[in-house]
Amino acid sequence: MSYADILDEAAEREQQMIELALANRKKPTVEFTGKCHFCEEVISKGHYCSSECREDHEKELWALKNRRAA
Ligand SMILES: [Zn+2]
Repeated sequence: MSYADILDEAAEREQQMIELALANRKKPTVEFTGKCHFCEEVISKGHYCSSECREDHEKELWALKNRRAA
């Protein structure tokens, strides 16, 4: 095996690892912080203290996204 072949193999292995990492990557999820993402109230599970907060936060995120796109 030549030196170039070794380099090629290393590059190929690296590419495979990247592809594997991408394949294993889950859909982006919101990290559990222990606080409501909207009003920062302490919560034991989920991401919001109430469905109202979730809806309001989603509206806020949507507004931010659309403001940036405009
Ligand atoms: Zn909240």
